[in-house]
Amino acid sequence: MSVVLKGKPVAQVINDETKKEVEKFRSQGIIPKLGLVQVGDRPDDTFYRDSIIKKCKTLNIETQVYKYDVDIEMDEFVSNLENVNNDENVHGILIFRPLPAQLDIEVIKNVINPKKDIDCMNPINLEKIFEGELDGLVPCTPKAVMEILKYYNIPLIGANVAVINKSLVVGKPLSMMLLEERATVTICHSRTKKLDEITKRSDIVVAAIGKAKFFGKEYFSSENVVVDVGINDDGNGKMCGDVDYDSIKDDVKSITPVPGGVGTVTTAILLNQIIVALKQLHK
Ligand code: NAP
Repeated sequence: MSVVLKGKPVAQVINDETKKEVEKFRSQGIIPKLGLVQVGDRPDDTFYRDSIIKKCKTLNIETQVYKYDVDIEMDEFVSNLENVNNDENVHGILIFRPLPAQLDIEVIKNVINPKKDIDCMNPINLEKIFEGELDGLVPCTPKAVMEILKYYNIPLIGANVAVINKSLVVGKPLSMMLLEERATVTICHSRTKKLDEITKRSDIVVAAIGKAKFFGKEYFSSENVVVDVGINDDGNGKMCGDVDYDSIKDDVKSITPVPGGVGTVTTAILLNQIIVALKQLHK
């Protein structure tokens, strides 16, 4: 039986730390506040927005929703975003994506104040990760993976890690974070040859391809620590990962579940980044 690397205790430690820091700021008269920028009425954005607001309440973080019509013009959106950027009472900004087609994300990601960019959209923040600067605002999912590995004392120095994803949100920043810990990283993608051989011989496998239950027994060995980043619909309306959990759960060393794994920690990291932002703003 493999060890199940649950996200909940990891998230709890991060949330406790966030709450402690929130109270410290409040005692200095600074009320931590998150600005949530929503364009249109996509039900998944609204669901995510409400769950973030609820979570912020438990952490004593204030929230403000900036909601715009689905057909807002680019100029107007940018000018509104600049107002949020310049509002001294807002310390973190989260923009729900994808945005409607008329809003150019390539421009917008450069407009968001890098010091309030808790979702790490701005290339200025991403660039820092490639320079090994990891104490600022970083992408939440890779940081969540690192926090899980740290919490469960998974050795990273010299470990062989297969990261199956090369995107800017997950694979590339995660690989940089792992390299900083002196892991040996193999970045894999859809054209990687003999992927099963790479995963089997790795100490840690991070799966993040976005395909429901894609990775079955043939990809794993009893020595693998498996981190499943995927969030998919299993076809029956239930959430599942990229790894076929039930078929491999007894055959690997340890594994993160979906749901209840990486995603749980990602939200905790996102809200903790309001504290990171506050510290940068009040340096
Ligand atoms: P993405 O940009 O579509 O990247 C997917 C990556 O998987 C690409 O590098 C792609 O390779 C690779 N890939 C696709 N099929 C493959 C295959 N058969 N074999 C090997 N590699 C394959 O997606 P993303 O935004 O990075 O997100 C990836 C997954 O993470 C999604 O399931 C998403 O829902 C999930 N996610 C989870 C969280 C969380 O908090 N848990 C947060 C964000 C995202 P190519 O580059 O060659 O196409």
